[in-house]
Amino acid sequence: MAQATAIVNAMVFDGTGAEPVPADVLVEGPRIVEIATQLGRSARDGARVIDGTGATLLPGLIDGHAHLGFGSTTRYLSDRSESNEEKALLIAHAGAVLLDSGFTSAYSGGNRLPAAEVAARRAFSEGWLPGPRLRACSWEGSVGLVEPGNYTFPGVAEREPDPEGVARFVHEMADLQVDTVKLSLSGESAVVHGSSRILQFTDSEVAAASAAARQRGVWLTAHAHAPEAITMAVRHGIRAIYHATFADDEAIEALVGARDRVFVAPTPGVIWAHLHDPGHPPEPGMEVAETADSVKAVAAELRSRGVRLVPGGDYGFAFNPIGLNARDLRLFVDWFGYTPAEALRAATQHGGQLMGMADELGLVRAGYLADLLLVDGDPLDDIGLLARATRLDPVAS
Ligand SMILES: [Zn+2]
Repeated sequence: MAQATAIVNAMVFDGTGAEPVPADVLVEGPRIVEIATQLGRSARDGARVIDGTGATLLPGLIDGHAHLGFGSTTRYLSDRSESNEEKALLIAHAGAVLLDSGFTSAYSGGNRLPAAEVAARRAFSEGWLPGPRLRACSWEGSVGLVEPGNYTFPGVAEREPDPEGVARFVHEMADLQVDTVKLSLSGESAVVHGSSRILQFTDSEVAAASAAARQRGVWLTAHAHAPEAITMAVRHGIRAIYHATFADDEAIEALVGARDRVFVAPTPGVIWAHLHDPGHPPEPGMEVAETADSVKAVAAELRSRGVRLVPGGDYGFAFNPIGLNARDLRLFVDWFGYTPAEALRAATQHGGQLMGMADELGLVRAGYLADLLLVDGDPLDDIGLLARATRLDPVAS
């Protein structure tokens, strides 16, 4: 049996948003078994003891919009010309970097090599490669569907609806054993200028995707900047909604009305990176300033109305590499009006709910998985400390 680990004398932030309290935490195998003001001698006997004096213990962070396949990390910069074999290895590499930067779970926002992502999920969960717990995703279904990541189609007004084709896409992705299938309900101005406001799918197509997803037991995720795309996602029961940038009053009311079942990832990290990327100053058609201004107002409103927003900022580009993901928590505070405790709750308790593991992930609680971070100092005082968090590996001795 694995040796137990006792983390003693730390302040414990449990993930609910409550103030940290001084406590000792005992871990056996993969799970937390006891939390006490002071662990008794019998509990500590034989355990590896980690002294957390001056540190804060918190649940491992969860990225709600992760792209392990974009190629770049803080340790490797990609020009995106690698072979598919190298790209598959880079998915595993990105998982290791993400884990080292404090993120013990990741909810994928799409991968052009979904079968490789499914393989990474298995390797991480079985422990023969280091990486986060992973919800694997399809590639991003655009209206082309046959071409991964194809954003070049004009929009719903200029083509015939194809609900059968969209349902087939969901089935094909489900056959690969992904957890979630992503549809780009509107475009992406940072890729094709101006397209964020263009609807790419019809109502009948999203209805067909939704029916296929229910049939196959996979979740749907929507890339949705445009207000019509957001309301369409909510109407069809899509569970995770990315960006929500240009939500109007109707879209905000739709999200608020569905707040018990939807998660929104407003994705500030990549916007920040676009604003601060010295190599690629934003061009007008990319709508970077408009996106930043709008998402700040929308996310602040959604927060105040009780919608669960989760961090995750499209990390993985060379100008926004994986490893910097904790920046999203700082932006939740600086841009969206979160307190540090609320931002941490979004990345832990709400992340656990997003992963579909609310009863065992995202809290420091007896019986929960021991995905734990130890941070020197008090991240509630300085959320930037998370950039220097240390993951605890309770089963290593
Ligand atoms: Zn994304």
